[in-house]
Amino acid sequence: MSAPRVAIVGGGIIGLAIGWRLRQRGIDDLVVLDSGEPGAWHVAAGMLAPGGESAFEQPALARLLEASNERWPAFAAELGVDVGFDTTGTLGLAMTADDQAEAARFWTPPLLRPSELREREPALSPRVRAGVYAPAERQVDPRKVVAALRERLADRIVAKRVEDLAEVDADVVVVAAGCDTARLTGLPVRPVKGQLLRLRGEPGLLRHVLSATVDGREVYLVPRADGEILVGATQEERTDHAVTAGAVHELLHAALDLVPGLAEFELIETTVGHRPGTPDNAPLLGWLAPNDITDLSGLSGVALSGAASPGAGDRLVIVAAGHHRNGVLLTPITADLIAGLVADGHQDPLLEKFAPGRF
Ligand SMILES: Cc1cc2nc3c(=O)[nH]c(=O)nc-3n(C[C@H](O)[C@H](O)[C@H](O)COP(=O)(O)OP(=O)(O)OC[C@H]3O[C@@H](n4cnc5c(N)ncnc54)[C@H](O)[C@@H]3O)c2cc1C
Repeated sequence: MSAPRVAIVGGGIIGLAIGWRLRQRGIDDLVVLDSGEPGAWHVAAGMLAPGGESAFEQPALARLLEASNERWPAFAAELGVDVGFDTTGTLGLAMTADDQAEAARFWTPPLLRPSELREREPALSPRVRAGVYAPAERQVDPRKVVAALRERLADRIVAKRVEDLAEVDADVVVVAAGCDTARLTGLPVRPVKGQLLRLRGEPGLLRHVLSATVDGREVYLVPRADGEILVGATQEERTDHAVTAGAVHELLHAALDLVPGLAEFELIETTVGHRPGTPDNAPLLGWLAPNDITDLSGLSGVALSGAASPGAGDRLVIVAAGHHRNGVLLTPITADLIAGLVADGHQDPLLEKFAPGRF
């Protein structure tokens, strides 16, 4: 059997979405090599929130997040099955005056009074002082998205942990291995530990995603239609997989202060995942050694021939990793841009600021 034209290393949400887009473009000679370990997608809450802290500080990242957010409705619809894409929107909330001073930096007016907030969410604590409604900040269920993508690529997924890129035989190799991208490529991707809880109770206690500051603690609650409510998440510069008493305590303390009725819910799961962070917390998207290529237009049409070799040996190596806190949100745009790069060498201007070799 001859080598596949495209091998994707990592069958997480990013690698699978790229594979799906390539298949839709008629590139069927591909494999997705996946180690089978649940990636960060298995833990992620699936908030599609382009207005967070990193976007605030980086205009290029803000544009990428916005552009991907705009693509989510079509992406979810195209998958053709229920992936939990929910358009109710997010309430940004503050419990005290100090919390409000901290949180309001990221809020878009108008400010909602407590009575207006409780009209939207009657289960909120009467202590909630202020908030805003962000209709464009929606949610999706990453486990359902990955299941849907796996189904579309079922005959292309190979159970294999790649130890070294040299062992991958293909014309084009796309590295989408989450945190393991660092080991495979030498790029600066670091694991950022996140602990997240899942509660279950009567459906309907909450409708919106709640993103709150509660007596100085950051917490978010993501209600699914089936009565599950996700409570997240810690952000720790650690590599271990321990669920700690302190984290469970802090998350539940904030969640129950915000929504007292959660006390009746069952704690069904405690999970730990590692976000693939980078030095500027923006993703790494593009050729492994972009500095070697000055004229990308020349690659059009040869990307799949192996004629140009910016990566390793006689292959092209492309990286799609380091999505940190926004990998679910950034899935549609990453898949479109990387599929364009693989299929015809098209370097979208949106990729410019995210070259893997920028550090
Ligand atoms: C607690 C928490 C909450 C989060 N909440 C959100 C959120 O609300 N919204 C959002 O947008 N993002 C969120 N994220 C971030 C998001 O989960 C990640 O950015 C995203 O999962 C990155 O996708 P990925 O496919 O690159 O990596 P991963 O999801 O980590 O998947 C990597 C895949 O590669 C495979 N793999 C790894 N190494 C190898 C190898 N050597 N060979 C073969 N296969 C390999 C793994 O088995 C896995 O399947 C959250 C993350 C955490 C931890």
